[in-house]
Amino acid sequence: MARSFSATISAMAHVRHFRVPARWHSTSTNFLRRPTIFALNNGRRYLSATPALPSPSSFAPQTQIFHDVAPLREYRRELLFSKRTVGLVPTMGALHEGHLSLVRQAAAENTDVIVTIYVNPTQFGLNEDLSSYPKTWESDLRMLNALDRELASVGAGRVSAVFAPNTKTMYPILPPDSAIPGVGTFVEMRPLGQLLEGASRPVFFRGVATVCMKLFNICAPERVYFGQKDIQQTVVIKRLVKDFHLHMDVRICPTAREPDGLALSSRNVYLGTRRRNVGIVLNQALRKAESQYKSGKRSRGDILWPANDHADMTLQEQECLDPSKRARFQVDYISLADPETMEEIDEVDETRGAILSGAVKMLPIEQAREGEELGVGDGLIPVRLIDNIILDPAS
Ligand code: AMP
Repeated sequence: MARSFSATISAMAHVRHFRVPARWHSTSTNFLRRPTIFALNNGRRYLSATPALPSPSSFAPQTQIFHDVAPLREYRRELLFSKRTVGLVPTMGALHEGHLSLVRQAAAENTDVIVTIYVNPTQFGLNEDLSSYPKTWESDLRMLNALDRELASVGAGRVSAVFAPNTKTMYPILPPDSAIPGVGTFVEMRPLGQLLEGASRPVFFRGVATVCMKLFNICAPERVYFGQKDIQQTVVIKRLVKDFHLHMDVRICPTAREPDGLALSSRNVYLGTRRRNVGIVLNQALRKAESQYKSGKRSRGDILWPANDHADMTLQEQECLDPSKRARFQVDYISLADPETMEEIDEVDETRGAILSGAVKMLPIEQAREGEELGVGDGLIPVRLIDNIILDPAS
């Protein structure tokens, strides 16, 4: 299934000679302009001051924007016939450095990267934050354009396309159902999709697996890129690819973090300073558990107690503060699980390692202070934070 190393290298050489003439990119003033979106009559649009040109000699920097399946498929076919390779980066937009790190890795391993931007309704429960999920289309495109420019200058693969479908396109038989059990055509994984995140969000992995299956079928990538940040999602995707014999490699990229360790997330914009500073509790707790493993502990109790203790102590500290100063939270879970099944384990098998993961819900701010920075939504939107650490096999 994996493309050979030499095939990747020859594809990269193809990029350097055909797609990205370095002198052109470094001198063109087109890169300095604000991205302009050009509408064309073939169903494609271009995120660039220069529309796409098919001939190698005049190939210009560009990110093509697709909203429909047929033109994207046609484009994908052209890439295939040109022996180019596609890395797919599925996202829900509201891009940040974590998403961009996935695109960078995809560009290092493929000639062409397709980024999808689609807020998938079926992975949100009926009472979840679908309507308030941040949508930042313009700035997402600007970030991708800037990254594409950077990639061009280093001779890597390019952000060739953004696929931003609407829900009628993704779910031709409307409306998509977020209810349990839900009417529609879905991919489900049991029990994997019902554990941990799936226990708190019963339709989440059904929605993720279903939309990813659709995106994989539409884009037919050689490789797909997911962040370790959503560790259970990576396990679900690997299972999807294996169980449905999908012809693609799954690549997992490290979690991009703030300097203090907080995992970047599109939802962090809702935190505000007070909740953000307390929200680091989850990463701190997981790191305490990791230290136990690194110091030779293998039993569940020995590994997890410092993590649970840290979360309890932090919560107590907050509870003692005045409502105008505190940020309360609920620990959803702190887990020690098997890396392939995500089932809880009592003892780490040194040959398999384990996954430490957790979720906390930052509760709304009770009382704001004068002039306080409360984030998008004025501190009133609960924010669920997740994080994880992989415990590598010790032998
Ligand atoms: P989302 O837009 O939140 O659905 O995320 C799209 C992809 O970006 C998923 O594969 C996420 O795991 C990945 N991602 C999100 N945050 C991060 C991060 N901080 N570091 C690395 N990857 C991330």
